[in-house]
Amino acid sequence: MARPPSGKPLAGETPAPLPSVLAYHKVTGFELGGTWVPPARFLRQIDALLDAGFRFIDEDGFLEALDGRRRGSRGEILLTFDDGYRCLLDHAVPALEARGIPALIFIPSAYVGEENAWELNLPGRHFRHLGWDEIADLERRGFSFGSHTRTHRDLTRLPDAEMREELARSKEELEARLERPVRSVSYPFGRSNGSVRVAAARAGYRAAFTLYPKRSAEGLNRFDLRREAVYVIDTAWTIRAKLGAGLPFMLEDFKGRAINALAVLTPLIKGGFSRSSRTGRRARAGR
Ligand SMILES: [Zn+2]
Repeated sequence: MARPPSGKPLAGETPAPLPSVLAYHKVTGFELGGTWVPPARFLRQIDALLDAGFRFIDEDGFLEALDGRRRGSRGEILLTFDDGYRCLLDHAVPALEARGIPALIFIPSAYVGEENAWELNLPGRHFRHLGWDEIADLERRGFSFGSHTRTHRDLTRLPDAEMREELARSKEELEARLERPVRSVSYPFGRSNGSVRVAAARAGYRAAFTLYPKRSAEGLNRFDLRREAVYVIDTAWTIRAKLGAGLPFMLEDFKGRAINALAVLTPLIKGGFSRSSRTGRRARAGR
């Protein structure tokens, strides 16, 4: 049945509980900004979750729970990585494969194989995004891919037509390369509003992930799905708190919202990445 083009939850579409979702970015050595995790600490975090009895599921398993085709559990974790950095190949993928852990990786389609242009990096340090061959290889090895729009701009600050194109064209570009439906999208900086969520639905996504949704009485919205972000200051203990309840969860929720609010400012601090970067200009020109 075709999904109605709405960002609102559908009647009867509130399967609960959903699996937990973790959002990582870079797994790498020391870097500026807050969205990286050192490789050894990443391993400790994953192993601590396994030791604590959490079970890692893949995108299919998450969507089945979201659709109410099976009952999800907070003891299940969908591991996601935003931005599709190449450093994952060295510092995350081997460890995940050794443990049989799947992951969903969100790709900004205009940056495939390019250097990153929107984050603050140490001088001379350049982070490359996964190339198409690497993405295809990882898909064969069981990792799945979603859209992170085309050019990683804050969708809530774009004119409507551009915002819709960011969502729709990234899906088309990824599907053309992967030769399968792209079902999930992650909003850059976790930023969305009602128009963005309607556009995500109309573009044909089945799930759209943010970081910290606005607290509302509407209940579950499959186009505004919460994820727990893991930042450089996090430890195995704080991640357990994010996945738990009560006061430790509330403190982590407050901390995560504050850090994410700062992360939204990064492109502004950089003076507008799209004006200052060659890649951004090419991407905007729709190469
Ligand atoms: Zn991102």
